[in-house]
Amino acid sequence: MYNVPIGVFTSIDAGLGVNFEVVCELGLKSIQLHTPQRGSRTPESASNFLYKLRENSVKITAIFLGFEGESYETIEITAQTVGFVPPKTRDARLVEAFEISDFAKLLGVIYIGSHIGFVPHDRRSNEYAEVVETIRSLCKYLKKNSQALTLETGQESVQALLTFINDVACDNIFVNFDPANLILYGIGNPIEALKLVAKYVRGVHCKDAIATTGTPGVDWGREVPFGSGQVDAEKFIRTLYEIGYNGALTIEREIPQQPEKQKEEINAAIKLINSIKGQIN
Ligand code: MG
Repeated sequence: MYNVPIGVFTSIDAGLGVNFEVVCELGLKSIQLHTPQRGSRTPESASNFLYKLRENSVKITAIFLGFEGESYETIEITAQTVGFVPPKTRDARLVEAFEISDFAKLLGVIYIGSHIGFVPHDRRSNEYAEVVETIRSLCKYLKKNSQALTLETGQESVQALLTFINDVACDNIFVNFDPANLILYGIGNPIEALKLVAKYVRGVHCKDAIATTGTPGVDWGREVPFGSGQVDAEKFIRTLYEIGYNGALTIEREIPQQPEKQKEEINAAIKLINSIKGQIN
């Protein structure tokens, strides 16, 4: 038995996760939370939410940064709008990330997850140096709050991600491994990638996808229920066990416009993961 908790990606007032009532209905005790909107990031709402969490014995393993203006409509729009790479919004988003870190601290959350965006490929460019410097500032701020950054996988190859982590050179930068993103963005085999970043993995998303039949890296693949795509759910969870990962297995299913279907599919994923965990010894 691989004895790690199952969690789910959750949203309160923004983002693509399930809402908290669904977490309770599904009987889960572990969540990752998409950043609440600015108006909800008050000490009062933190203490109300903490009360709810305690009442239901639910633990938040990570808060994921999310910013206004981000769009995942196409891969190209994602590159233009997401994370800390777009220069126009970079400084304001860094300040907002500090605020989110402080809010996460009120909730006792250690890991701050982030899609930093498409990191520029030329390591000698000014743009690359600027993104490295921005993420270094973020890591330093998180360190003061006894927190760490987890980079969501997918938007670049794992080799490029490892180089970036190395260049940021902070001891509180890790990875949240999302195997489906590697397929969605056309980056490569998720299991091989997982082995390469093994020592940095501090969170995972149990998400699945089918690669595009168009041009990888230009056209999106298709997100599908966990276990029905090209990730190979069983191999993924076995590999997590083999690399010694002992955090939560957080299910992510990004179809908030179909809440009933979302709940059903998450429930099916819970059953599948439990059965795979049970076979591991
Ligand atoms: Mg993800």
